[in-house]
Amino acid sequence: MDAEHTAKALQGQEAIQQQLWKTALSPWESGVLPSADSLDRARKSLKTFLGEDGIGLGETQSHILEDIVPGFNGGSISPNYYGFVTGGATPAALFADNVVSAYDQNVQVHLPNHSIVTDVEYAALGLLADLLRLDRQHWQNGTFSTGATASNIMGLACGREFVLRTAAERNGSSVESVGEYGYPEVLKAAGIERLQVLSTMPHSSLGKAAGMLGIGRANVKNICIKDDPLQFDMGLLKEELAKPGTANIVAISCGEVNTGRFATNGIEQMKEIRKLCDEYGAWVHVDGAFGAFGRILDDTPEFSSIKAGCEGLELADSITGDGHKLLNVPYDCGFFLCRHAHVAGNVFQNANAAYLSSGDSSGIAILSPLNIGIENSRRFRALPVYSSLISYGKSGYREMLKRQIRLARMISEWLYDHPAYNVLPASGSKEELLQSTYMVVLFSARDDRLNEELSKKINATSKIFVSGTVWEGRPACRIAISNWRVDEQRDFPIVTGVLQGVSEITS
Ligand SMILES: *Cc1c(COP(=O)(O)O)cnc(C)c1O
Repeated sequence: MDAEHTAKALQGQEAIQQQLWKTALSPWESGVLPSADSLDRARKSLKTFLGEDGIGLGETQSHILEDIVPGFNGGSISPNYYGFVTGGATPAALFADNVVSAYDQNVQVHLPNHSIVTDVEYAALGLLADLLRLDRQHWQNGTFSTGATASNIMGLACGREFVLRTAAERNGSSVESVGEYGYPEVLKAAGIERLQVLSTMPHSSLGKAAGMLGIGRANVKNICIKDDPLQFDMGLLKEELAKPGTANIVAISCGEVNTGRFATNGIEQMKEIRKLCDEYGAWVHVDGAFGAFGRILDDTPEFSSIKAGCEGLELADSITGDGHKLLNVPYDCGFFLCRHAHVAGNVFQNANAAYLSSGDSSGIAILSPLNIGIENSRRFRALPVYSSLISYGKSGYREMLKRQIRLARMISEWLYDHPAYNVLPASGSKEELLQSTYMVVLFSARDDRLNEELSKKINATSKIFVSGTVWEGRPACRIAISNWRVDEQRDFPIVTGVLQGVSEITS
């Protein structure tokens, strides 16, 4: 790359930038999935070897925009893509994300005289705490991550450090830090045989985190009551916590990904969990990837059961949240908040790299992200979060979430009244169902033959996309509404039109 390259690179860029902005922000009019032809063409266009000479920027841009992009799906930019929990990218986040790429800042060491970026990250964490109604004094601590999976890894890693340290210290041992001495030695020093993760319907990534951290997926235990897989059996919880030879992390599903429902039902239960965990030296981790955002809702009867489900988050030790879901910033972005700043330092300390030590003259103790999170070199993920939060404020996010919940409830009600469908979990009155619906709708077809093919038939319309899942041994479909472009009046007839059409197919 030389001056000539640079001059050439600039040619035609304005038009391309404009086209990209238009694509990202105009109403999405194509199908939510790419056509088979577009996929085929995109696949065949991929270069199969690296030539000695490059094809040049101009040709590369055409290749990407004309061959590869048509093979994308509308996941993030269509408001009618309801798979997974996909979110979108708000205009303010999209703008900032472009700035992040253009200026390519590395956010790893807090060097207040060299760059503002760590201050921005710290400020963004504070804004998030404000949004989630968490006291900044305890919660402006943490890091941005690649997503909720990485944040859950951090949550279990911090929990492991804390509970084994507590046990080792009670045992009078100075071999107390897993980060320093390793898991087996500290287990031994603590007189502990097994570290358990106690949860109800944990997200799959929690098992992954347990696997990676040497805790073991088999030690992630479901401790639910008999007739509801999401509700804690408080008696069983106490029994497990009290088991001799165990140390425990309690992981709360604040927003279960299939149903969108909450594992706890209010401040009293959270207090009870906290008390038990304090008694037995356990760590409380909340996986609030999308559920934590329920805290921004108004105190009105309309949302009271959602608010109750995410009450008491401030009693946890650590909280996982996702940026690329309900916060609607681009992939990849998650966050991890922790009430104990030093614990993350013990786990993630980037040892013996004095040249990376952080100076601080600013008066606020901003920790270097590389010492409290997984990565060393890091993308400036905080900027899109900062940008989107200050642009739309609390009320902007509140209104967005209300529209998402209202659409979910309109669809739930329609399905409940429809002879071809069941809304899940199938218990309770219609009123109870609507009250407890967040921004996820889980449903199935009553007819087994239709049900087997339901998600395939819905997605084949390419008008909406739903995730296929399994509920109580039967296939089920999931509509997760998480895009900032949601408009309940516009989207309700689109969704119900597809569902009505599919219910009428006789094959
Ligand atoms: C999505 C999700 C995760 C995993 O998040 P990623 O951002 O995909 O890493 C974890 N927990 C819950 C509850 C989720 O919804």
